[in-house]
Amino acid sequence: MAGCGLFITGTDTGVGKTAVAVAIVRSLLQGRSLDGGLRVGVYKPVASGVDPRDVTESDAGQLWEAAGRPLSLAAVCPQLFIAPISPPASARAEGRCVDEQRLRDGFAVWQRVSDIVIVEGAGGLFSPLADTMLNADLVRDLDLPLVVVDTPRLGAIGRTLAVVEAAAARGLRVAAVVLSQVEPLAGSLAEPASPRAIARESARHLADLIRPVPVAELGHHVTAFTPAIDWHRLAQRASPSTP
Ligand SMILES: [Mg+2]
Repeated sequence: MAGCGLFITGTDTGVGKTAVAVAIVRSLLQGRSLDGGLRVGVYKPVASGVDPRDVTESDAGQLWEAAGRPLSLAAVCPQLFIAPISPPASARAEGRCVDEQRLRDGFAVWQRVSDIVIVEGAGGLFSPLADTMLNADLVRDLDLPLVVVDTPRLGAIGRTLAVVEAAAARGLRVAAVVLSQVEPLAGSLAEPASPRAIARESARHLADLIRPVPVAELGHHVTAFTPAIDWHRLAQRASPSTP
């Protein structure tokens, strides 16, 4: 099931994946007049910790809004569970289970109507999505390149490299890394131990370590990446070759 798209994953939960996915969608749509009308699909295969009454506030709701409300919110996230724990545990708490085939089928729905599909995983690359499926397993099935997200606090180099190396060991392709500021960064670049300087140095050092994979920074409540990345081209260039 090879398609044009990107799978947004993280080093952990709460590292800013949704902000990155939303910013990628916005950046793709901003360039759409040049592309002659790019159809951008958005997909969150499963979500937990979502009250069905507040679904518009959820990751899926934010992705759907950013993409201009294509199809339906239910198509963005077909499987929602309430308890804020892993999706399989959250489903179990409701006497249900995560439907693994539906995780794949839900992507195919978007593939049919989109030029590019931005998928946001749940948790980190090795977090469970279903009883016998990790995020990494779905990435392999969908055959999408990864965007690995971490927050730029101290430890970002080690956390990110661990995921990049583990992805490679599984035969998954990393298209880009983004350090996503989940809160404003204090201090100045002139103070080496300030959060701002740590973020900048982490991005610089990571870029050296994983070249030619691009490393971008995304500011808090900002939708522009530094440096700018052509996500459409990256998704196409990283598109899997047919075996
Ligand atoms: Mg999220």
